[in-house]
Amino acid sequence: METKNTVEQKNEKDNNDVLLSTQTVIHKALEKLGYPEEVYELLKEPLRMLTVKIPVKMDDGSVKIFTGYRAQHNDAVGPTKGGIRFHPNVTEREVKALSIWMSLKCGIVDLPYGGGKGGIVCDPRNMSFSELERLSRGYVRAISQIVGPTKDIPAPDVFTNSQIMAWMMDEYSRMDEFNSPGFITGKPLVLGGSHGRESATAKGVTICINEAAKKRDIDIKGAKVVVQGFGNAGSFLAKFMHDAGAKVVGISDAYGALYDKDGLDIDYLLDRRDSFGTVTKLFENTITNKELLESECDILVPAAIENQITADNAHNIKAKIVVEAANGPTTLEATQILTDRGILIVPDVLASSGGVTVSYFEWVQNNQGYYWTEEEVEEKLEKILVKSFNAIYETAQSRHVDMRLAAYMVGVRKMAEASRFRGWI
Ligand code: GLU
Repeated sequence: METKNTVEQKNEKDNNDVLLSTQTVIHKALEKLGYPEEVYELLKEPLRMLTVKIPVKMDDGSVKIFTGYRAQHNDAVGPTKGGIRFHPNVTEREVKALSIWMSLKCGIVDLPYGGGKGGIVCDPRNMSFSELERLSRGYVRAISQIVGPTKDIPAPDVFTNSQIMAWMMDEYSRMDEFNSPGFITGKPLVLGGSHGRESATAKGVTICINEAAKKRDIDIKGAKVVVQGFGNAGSFLAKFMHDAGAKVVGISDAYGALYDKDGLDIDYLLDRRDSFGTVTKLFENTITNKELLESECDILVPAAIENQITADNAHNIKAKIVVEAANGPTTLEATQILTDRGILIVPDVLASSGGVTVSYFEWVQNNQGYYWTEEEVEEKLEKILVKSFNAIYETAQSRHVDMRLAAYMVGVRKMAEASRFRGWI
């Protein structure tokens, strides 16, 4: 059996370390923009990182202590903003990286926010509804001092949803002693949620796919699309692509993947999906995630978790365009390989920024107490994302850099400038 030597193992670990790769690209972006080293020193880590222990009474009467995090990357531009994920593999370094990505997203789509992110180490798939409620409320009590509608505004992320946002909003409002819908976004409509928020990430990805397809002369009608992940982003996206006339030939979830060269019946799959996005368990003729990523298609959308396209499989990717709906699905080595092979990458910090953009709309509506129609939300989102996509594409062309570095250059500028004007650097 072939084994990897320690140097190879260390390299692999470094390549998969999302914080390290984010810092590498931030450093390059600041260098390209001509900022001095202290700007990098300020931006390479979050300004604030809170680790909390959350005791939760479980249904069997026992008490379990959960670990949670909230990172606030940079609040020079405005309050920090970003989701909360519930996942067994959440780590401090990951939450830090995710908060930096939120800053970049907010910079790219020009929102008056810095980036934040939260996470709880837990497996919501093995928890009851009431255990999840107690955990969500406990987390809000634990981080209450550093969050709030003008400080740091959470939102959904992996394995969290509008019900969890509702419990969190209620807990915060009780502590605050008045109704505070602007504390959190991604709420149900009846509690001040925004039209279009649930599908916003996928809408944003769709807009980016349309723009990228124009650059590569691909007609969406009939284009073969593979979507890895069938959670919030992946499932809505599969539906939008299917409705636009594309052939969604592959989808996957944590249990396996489905492929049909003639196109899958997305409406049927959506109908059969359970609340955690599982659908492949229903089928016997599944393929692996690895096979799915390397399958024949025009457009590949990783919409699941980090480090899916690596130096190991980047040479075998057949797509002409890779659009990152997930956070951090492609390693830096793989980015280089794909770029060298002429594959157009739409990086995560751009492609997945539709979610936070409509979260911003939700917060604005909460603050003014006046609510918009779905058409208004979609029209505003479309304008912002088309503009951001083209700004990044043009930066990549004119500065001869890949799309990821171009996105970081566009995304980092505003917070660097704001930090300078505030006299921090
Ligand atoms: N969790 C989403 C993201 O990673 C949305 C964050 C938000 O809406 O604030 O972009």
